[in-house]
Amino acid sequence: MTDLAFETPKPNQAAQAFLDRREHRNFVGGAWQASQSGDTFETLDPATGECIGLLPRSNKVDVDQAVTAARAAFDDGRWSKMIPMERSKILWRIADLIEENIDELAELETLDQGKALYVGRWAEIPGAVNQFRYFSGLATKIEGSTIPTSINYQPEGKEVFAYTQKEPIGVVGAIVPWNSPLVLTAMKLAPALAAGCTLVLKPAENTSLTAVRLVELMAEAGLPDGVINLVCGYGAEAGQALAEHSQVDKIAFTGSTATGRRILDAAQGNLKKVTLELGGKSPVIIMDDADVDAAIQGAANAIFFNGGQVCIAGSRLYCHSSLFDRVTQGIAEIAQGIKMGHGLDQATQMGPLVSREHSSKVCEYIDSGKGDGASILCGGDAAGPNGTFVAPTVLTDVKADMQIVREEVFGPVLVASAFDDADEVISAANDSEYGLAAGVWSESLSNGLRFANALRAGTVWINGHAMYDASLPIGGMKQSGWGRDSGQAALENYLELKTVCAIH
Ligand code: NAD
Repeated sequence: MTDLAFETPKPNQAAQAFLDRREHRNFVGGAWQASQSGDTFETLDPATGECIGLLPRSNKVDVDQAVTAARAAFDDGRWSKMIPMERSKILWRIADLIEENIDELAELETLDQGKALYVGRWAEIPGAVNQFRYFSGLATKIEGSTIPTSINYQPEGKEVFAYTQKEPIGVVGAIVPWNSPLVLTAMKLAPALAAGCTLVLKPAENTSLTAVRLVELMAEAGLPDGVINLVCGYGAEAGQALAEHSQVDKIAFTGSTATGRRILDAAQGNLKKVTLELGGKSPVIIMDDADVDAAIQGAANAIFFNGGQVCIAGSRLYCHSSLFDRVTQGIAEIAQGIKMGHGLDQATQMGPLVSREHSSKVCEYIDSGKGDGASILCGGDAAGPNGTFVAPTVLTDVKADMQIVREEVFGPVLVASAFDDADEVISAANDSEYGLAAGVWSESLSNGLRFANALRAGTVWINGHAMYDASLPIGGMKQSGWGRDSGQAALENYLELKTVCAIH
């Protein structure tokens, strides 16, 4: 990629007004406040490296205040005992407010994260709206069951009545990553609030701006004080303190598998419940009976959308040998045609990666692939004023034991291999410590369903990729996580099941 020059378009008025505030605050017990130490940290526009805001650098003390506020709000029932229809209305109102402010939120997300504007404006933030609407509906449908028992030792003339009820789990610590900040935050907050929990949200240090704006909108929607609390800061400080805190009942985490392990260790103290949405190295399989043009476009989108910074990115391509050259050439042509630039430019199809550290890491992975003998079909280098733009890259001549094939790169980097028969490709696709998602392209539904059964992945798409909906559970098998976000399954993450058994 020749060096990339671009203008930075001006943000819209609302986004600019937000940026003009410059220094942002935590939200604790209904009040906006600086970190208790007064320390701040910078958040950067990754395209340019320019500082676009200061966030409170929170530590244990701030986290403790936020957890205390969330605990009080949970224990006095101001949210959990609010009638479900009222909780439902507030969740719906949050969705409306996100929608009303979507242009501002999308631009802030782009400025902070780098993503091309359309990704936030048309995919992710509408996805966040849908999370709140979907769980608004479920807030009124949290039901237990009556259970017939075989108990026979009750006194003569008495009966046994047994039932279950579901109760909110309590105070939830939500810790989220930087790749798709708003929608991933919504995936935690919406079901937790529907269940009646109170929360402390810790956004990723790279991308806290839309979390600040979202929490403002949530307060405006009428959430009682203390129900949502926000602490900004670094993972090792604020995140770790939240994961360790003895008054937190549950951690809902999305991020890397390495951090997921740290969260588990930190959660041991009070044996808090933990759900983990972690990394992936998802296979995309193109069978010899696939609609080839659709599969080429689909496989390219699966890895290049949001610069490949997507947990379910289709980063390992397995293509039938009869189509391999045509498919890889087709994907390379798409890759070379992708317009890179500042995310705020409407013509941009791929923005920078989230930070210089991350783009260096992605380039190191590409170098390791080359060093191990892989060939670069296209891409392979970084550019831009801040060195954060990584060209969409396709590597061939890869082997199953290469680091670039086994580890999550989290960038626009595809490794492509050929196969000849179905059993061979199923075993190659399953040969991973991850099990988040998989895609299969075939015009035969029986082939597709056979693969869906055989692949060890939390989601399998047939003739598509990344088809998300608030109603569809998403999460991983193996080291891709514990539990599911989205869908009715996600609500259960935030509920305890109580059994009541009475003699009457
Ligand atoms: P990360 O694990 O570095 O950070 C995620 C969050 O954890 C951030 O808020 C960070 O500050 C915090 N954190 C870091 N160290 C911590 C600690 N010791 N204690 C508590 N919190 C800590 O992940 P990332 O680099 O921000 O995100 C990318 C990863 O997220 C990728 O692996 C990606 O696959 C994964 N991801 C998974 C899903 C999914 O649904 N499975 C979705 C999106 C992203």
